[in-house]
Amino acid sequence: MSTPVLPPLRDMLASLIAINSISSASPQLDQSNQPVIHQLATWFELLGFKVDLMPVHTTHSKKLNLIARYGEGHGGLVLAGHTDTVPCDEHLWQSNPFQLTERDNAYFGLGICDMKGFFPLILEAVKPLLSQKFQCPLIVVATADEETSMDGARALVEAQQKLGRFALIGEPTNMKPINMHKGIMMERVVIHGSSGHSSDPSLGNNALDAMYYVLGDLIQFRQQLAKQFNNPLFTVPSPTMNLGCIHGGDNPNRICGSCELAFDLRPLPGMSTENLRESIQKRLALIAEQHSIDIEFNPLFPSVEAFETPAQSPFVQYCQQLTQHEAESVAFATEAPFLNALGMDTVVLGPGDIAKAHQPDECLPLSRINPFIKILQRLIHHYCITSPNVQTT
Ligand SMILES: [Zn+2]
Repeated sequence: MSTPVLPPLRDMLASLIAINSISSASPQLDQSNQPVIHQLATWFELLGFKVDLMPVHTTHSKKLNLIARYGEGHGGLVLAGHTDTVPCDEHLWQSNPFQLTERDNAYFGLGICDMKGFFPLILEAVKPLLSQKFQCPLIVVATADEETSMDGARALVEAQQKLGRFALIGEPTNMKPINMHKGIMMERVVIHGSSGHSSDPSLGNNALDAMYYVLGDLIQFRQQLAKQFNNPLFTVPSPTMNLGCIHGGDNPNRICGSCELAFDLRPLPGMSTENLRESIQKRLALIAEQHSIDIEFNPLFPSVEAFETPAQSPFVQYCQQLTQHEAESVAFATEAPFLNALGMDTVVLGPGDIAKAHQPDECLPLSRINPFIKILQRLIHHYCITSPNVQTT
């Protein structure tokens, strides 16, 4: 077999950094990820992967997921990541965020560690292994819009996409395996009362008065959840609820006609966002009835479930062994709960540092690159090449 001609690692990283793939809730900033996906498709096809592109229908522009497979059969290893980045404050960067720059023993560029830079590392890792026979497939998944709606990952779940048995997501974790994080719900309560002259309360129905009871009830619910659920493996061991903002009324001498509250709720693994929403809905319905007022309750954004792959999972154990680190929890959310929902044991493990992501001068230390490529090679070797004993269903 002739050796495939892939560009050198540095050139691949530079090409991806140069393609703007910002995803944003603001249409002015949002970019399609299609150019990144097409670039990845070209490289993976060069190595003999079979590439499928999956359209992801998002609000602003047309986006794609990529699924690249090498080898046949069931089960196998999935290496997954997102192709989009957050927006950046270009004027605060020391170098052009869209031009790969090397200084202070690190590569700088938007998305270098969070996380377009993951894909060239996969290509570099798998290239020398292709002369061996793959017993189980290696599947690379590159998604759209992780930084905003997670619509790419949602599309995989909606399609019940058959991927693999074990999945690694290369988000920045400082080379430590992560097997759990909290979920995120962002919710909105709107109380519709009616306005009137403040001198006579019977002329209206005060939404702010009702909000007082809603706030009290939510705080009580928060305390109840904290008593009921606790996981010492998290830095903040209880589920949290943050009452984030409130808007209502206009003048002291008018009965407040409507009032709106937005809050977030971060559930622990084992708590379902649907159950939480149902409980809150019931509590609000009670207040609405008691105060003869309309209360609307809906999500501001689709929620992300909490994520946990049991520490006893052979995949978690193997990642611990490879990295010489116990699996931990993190405070940020990832696409892992979506991959778990597709029946895969998922671990988040990547070379970057989350503290360097989402801010000026995002970087990846050069010293992390080769050790991380070795980790990927050992994973591919274990789960795809010498894997007859690995459970594949
Ligand atoms: Zn990320």
